[in-house]
Amino acid sequence: MHTTNQGTVYKKIIGHYVVHAGDRVITCEISSRLRKDLRYPTADPTSIRPHVVRVQKIQAIDPVAVGDEVRFVESADSNGMIVEVLPRRSMLVRREATGPFARHAFVQVVVSNLDQVVPVFAAAQPTPKWSLLDRYLVSAESLDLPSLICITKLDLVADSGIAAIAEMYRRIGYQVILTSAVSGDGIAELGEALRGKVSVLVGKSGVGKTSLLNAIHPGLGLRVNAVSALTGKGMHTTSNLEMIPFSEDGGPGGGVVDTPGIREFGLWQVADSEIALMFPEMRSYVGTCRFGLDCRHDKEPGCAIRQAVASGNVSQERYESMLKLRAG
Ligand code: GDP
Ligand code: ZN
Repeated sequence: MHTTNQGTVYKKIIGHYVVHAGDRVITCEISSRLRKDLRYPTADPTSIRPHVVRVQKIQAIDPVAVGDEVRFVESADSNGMIVEVLPRRSMLVRREATGPFARHAFVQVVVSNLDQVVPVFAAAQPTPKWSLLDRYLVSAESLDLPSLICITKLDLVADSGIAAIAEMYRRIGYQVILTSAVSGDGIAELGEALRGKVSVLVGKSGVGKTSLLNAIHPGLGLRVNAVSALTGKGMHTTSNLEMIPFSEDGGPGGGVVDTPGIREFGLWQVADSEIALMFPEMRSYVGTCRFGLDCRHDKEPGCAIRQAVASGNVSQERYESMLKLRAG
């Protein structure tokens, strides 16, 4: 008689899923029932022909995501079969559609059950682009996930410019941690903030994500990305998407996903008219402009958000990021 167990998917390897259950790790396949039931397209709801889907495309959608809580049955050889994916608390999704079928957007869940998004920026090398940070923050807001901003490589900068940036984001209400994998500053604080939670680190290659994880848990021994001497940019390394178990003792409970291809972590689900709502410090002004909800917060007279910029309640940089995101 098979008993059903519950566990968390930490890794996917073509056709196989590595499930952590308590202190055990079981390699699972998925049941054909699950494959059939869950491989469905999420069509554009406005589409009049949502049923037009290519079978191949359906096959490309994986019903199980890293982070999923699953039920599985174990076989005698200590492998298992996933029979059910439990309801997801949150999802980081990627739209999978190209060509003539682009209107029928397939949604691939990349990571599920996230607790927080951790945008990582280097204070230098590479030079930070804060508008990209705002883009990540807006994406996280749209998913209703808290963000934890990490600015690292603090050992490379002497001036107080970074402190001012950190202060600006803290005033909005974001937690900001300043770190250096070299000096060790902020590492304990970051480790504490990641403990027991499922976090996704977002940030360009080369900003220092892997080095931070290694600094927090030296036992991980993750391979650090060399920064190209020529371009100053991180060299692209491909890796399978996986969640690194991240509790103090290496046991269950929490993990960190270091996402390749984070460009996909986009805004496609945020309508232009809602972007200002994704900036917490602008939220209360939305709807109070002279043109009400029709205001684009750009050149319109009587814009409450522009007035807030003038009076110093909203920073000029964040305001510009908002306009930029509205423009696409
Ligand atoms: P990732 O691509 O975001 O995972 O970045 P890595 O952790 O692989 O680091 C990219 C490069 O930055 C490597 O050459 C690291 O040695 C370097 N690096 C990472 N963290 C720090 C830091 O805190 N200070 C300095 N000076 N260099 C760092
Ligand atoms: Zn306005």
